[in-house]
Amino acid sequence: MPHAVTQSCVGDGSCVYACPVNCIQPTPDDPAFDLAEMLFIDPATCVDCGACVSACPVDAIKPHHELEAGEKAFLQLNAAYHQVPRNRPTLAPVRPRLRVRDFGIPLDVAIVGSGPAAMYAAEELLTIPGARVTVYERLERPNGLVRSGVAPDHRRTRRVSGQLERIRRHPRLAMRLGVEIGADLTHDDLLVQHHAVIYAVGASTDRRLEIPGAELPGVASATSFVGWYNGHPDHAGHAFDLSQRRVAVIGNGNVALDVARMLTVDPETLVDSEIAPPALAALRSSAVEEVSIIGRRGAEFSSFTLPELIGLTTTSNLNVVVDPAELPMDAAADDAKLALLRSLPSEPGPTGRTIRLRYGLAPQRILGADRAEGLELAATDDGGSTTIEAGLVLTAIGYRGLPVPALPYDASRGTVPNDAGRVTGDDGAPMPGTYVAGWIKRGPTGFIGTNKRCAQDTVAELVEDHNAGRLSTARAAVT
Ligand code: NAP
Repeated sequence: MPHAVTQSCVGDGSCVYACPVNCIQPTPDDPAFDLAEMLFIDPATCVDCGACVSACPVDAIKPHHELEAGEKAFLQLNAAYHQVPRNRPTLAPVRPRLRVRDFGIPLDVAIVGSGPAAMYAAEELLTIPGARVTVYERLERPNGLVRSGVAPDHRRTRRVSGQLERIRRHPRLAMRLGVEIGADLTHDDLLVQHHAVIYAVGASTDRRLEIPGAELPGVASATSFVGWYNGHPDHAGHAFDLSQRRVAVIGNGNVALDVARMLTVDPETLVDSEIAPPALAALRSSAVEEVSIIGRRGAEFSSFTLPELIGLTTTSNLNVVVDPAELPMDAAADDAKLALLRSLPSEPGPTGRTIRLRYGLAPQRILGADRAEGLELAATDDGGSTTIEAGLVLTAIGYRGLPVPALPYDASRGTVPNDAGRVTGDDGAPMPGTYVAGWIKRGPTGFIGTNKRCAQDTVAELVEDHNAGRLSTARAAVT
């Protein structure tokens, strides 16, 4: 019986290198890797050894016979990826080891942030004999978005924190929690104490929806809602009015799916999760009956991923509905996401809460005098106008990186300008010893594992600068 990768896949590629027959694709060297929604096992060549099961940090891989009812769809999804034959070597190509010039002093690097990009950068640096890493984290607790971004009911995905913890335990890594760069220490302080600095500070705010009424009580960002239910100290004090029966979520990425699901799942299923206790208490007394997820474009442009849609549609006691008139007539027959959307009912069953997927509706205005009462939407095909009732409106239209003290900032992208990870100044020249990794480098896209390749690429640039004598490692060796 073959194995299958399921919803919690974080795409860090650990399974790929464990597989003795290279049947898990795409591999990290493949250009398709960065765009893939998950990794896929070829059932025709899987030898059922289970090596991938042990390697996966989030228990995403299961043998055929252990798949739960809601996971059976992943068998077909894994197989479908391999229906297009691809040439592949017997084993996945391994990334070559870093070749590091010996200047007589060990490389010492500061990393700012402690989420996946930061810790994968640390892991790569610590493969260098003698190299030291100090991780500076603003909060008193580490892990970045793994702790404060992944939904509490995604328990298996949250297990990636075990992988980050293992990296943190490395004897040549020091953690400095509760230290804010720009307030407690400056960038120059870091460059005095270390040979280089990698900023992996993520994208900690949200893109703003600038429409009339967006400032009304009852309108909030998904970022603050996610931070609230995960107990992030910046958001723990927020309050959300869950006495409302109808909620609208603007945007249809995976964050929109997360917040809509958290508002509609049975709160008793969250009891043994890491949800913040005040959020659990609020959800227990919630009056929310229906959440509409509003996409401004057609269903073929849904920003959520297929694995997350499968997970949503198999959530117990939840109705996920879509009006067939809002689905395209002429989409490609092999589009699995659209096929699943087409199989959904148009109206909810008699029990359970409801998530309604809406398409082709651009938000125009939040309705209401003293607080949000609804949403005015313009149909993107004919410009017609429609309204929906919503006492709570959450905007989930993407994250955005904040400026980093002492570093240049690209306000249009919410990132730090860089050339393959080397921070570049206004003149385009690299800032000595200064690097970025993760969402502050490339913007808020991809999955937890995408940050591994991203961080490794940044470390490769840093090592190239070290080898070329462009870091103070070389100066220290001369003086
Ligand atoms: P996202 O996938 O970029 O989705 C943003 C959504 O906002 C899109 O539907 C976009 O529509 C819409 N939007 C943008 N501007 C808008 C506007 N002015 N009016 C109306 N709609 C607007 O972002 P995200 O959901 O924040 O996710 C960020 C990243 O984290 C993604 O890579 C995601 O996969 C990842 N993530 C993964 C998980 C998971 O795997 N469980 C969970 C959370 C996040 P258009 O497409 O039309 O621009």
